[in-house]
Formats: sequence, structure tokens, C-alpha cells
Amino acid sequence: DGRVERIASTIRVIPDFPKPGILFQDITTLLLDPQAFHDTTDLFVERYKDKGITVVAGVEARGFIFGPPIALAIGAKFVPIRKPKKLPGEVISEEYSLEYGTDKIEMHVGAVLPSDRALIVDDLIATGGTLCAAAKLIERVGAEVVECACVIELPELKGRDKLGDRPVFVLVKAD
Ligand code: IMP
Repeated sequence: DGRVERIASTIRVIPDFPKPGILFQDITTLLLDPQAFHDTTDLFVERYKDKGITVVAGVEARGFIFGPPIALAIGAKFVPIRKPKKLPGEVISEEYSLEYGTDKIEMHVGAVLPSDRALIVDDLIATGGTLCAAAKLIERVGAEVVECACVIELPELKGRDKLGDRPVFVLVKAD
């Protein structure tokens, strides 16, 4: 119905950011278009409103932009999954590998319960490492990852393979 095309047209691509050779997909220009921003959350809400999702887990930082409006609209709680040493309470953490070295994400203990059905939200899936670590955090507490949702996918990096059986839903495939 034209919404995805409009959304795609608002995403700005910036070459050589943050490093030479990287084509950065910039969603801040999507946020400057209120209709595109609204359509983005609407498309997710339409997909997830009747799926029994009880928690939306947003991955720092841009999962904090798209996750909360989805959570509010579907009546789910919102849980931030953050970079190390940002959360003040007791956390569980999950390490994942980058091109060079490793990174880590953390989640508050008690935020997600074994009975929860989770939707994980981020702006973009590249290698899938970040979403996979987020999924492991949620599964470690006994909850179910119903789906991972992103605005953008870089299909060449085969992030879906890393996620295994966990479903991934994206609006825009970038080339
Ligand atoms: P992955 O772990 O390799 O899938 O990388 C995904 C993570 O890196 C997400 O948290 C994204 O926000 C971030 N990321 C990687 N590439 C881009 C990009 O081109 N634009 C915006 N975020 C990116």
C-alpha cells in the first residue's frame, strides 16, 4: 500500500560512516517525516497486536526509538537491552563477537519473566550478532522470543542465519 516504499525513501545512506568502506543506513531522516515514522510503528503494530506479545525488548540505542511506541500500542511492557554498565540494577549479560573483538549487552534481572512472550526490536540487522545476543538473554530467563523486528536488513550479511529458528521480520531490505 505504498507505506514501505515511503519509509524506504526516507532512510538516508551515508558512505564511510563510522569507518571508511561502511555504508551507514541512517534512520534519523525517517524520524523527520512524521508520516513515515507513524507508518513504521503502525506496520509493526498491525503485525503484532494479536500475537500475545507481553514484552517488547528494545536494543540500545535505536531500539529505544521504535520499541516503545509499539509496546504502548499493543499493551506490552517495554524492556531496554543496554550496553554494559548502563543499567543500575542487577543484570544478566551476553557477550557477542564483532569483526574485531567482542561486545556485550545487558538486561535487568526480573524485567522479563519465564511466562513472557517477547518481541525484540532494533533499527537494523546486519550480521545478526546483536539480535542473537538479545534473544539469548531473553531465552536464558525462560521466556519465548516470538520474533525479532527491524526496520532495515542488510541481507548480504546473512544475519538471519545467525538467528537460527527465531523468526525475523523487516520492512526494508537494503542492498
Ligand atoms: P549486527 O549485530 O551486525 O546485526 O549489527 C546490528 C547493530 O549494529 C544494530 O544495533 C544496529 O543499530 C547497528 N548497525 C549496524 N550497521 C548499521 C547501519 O548501517 N545503520 C544503523 N545501525 C547499524
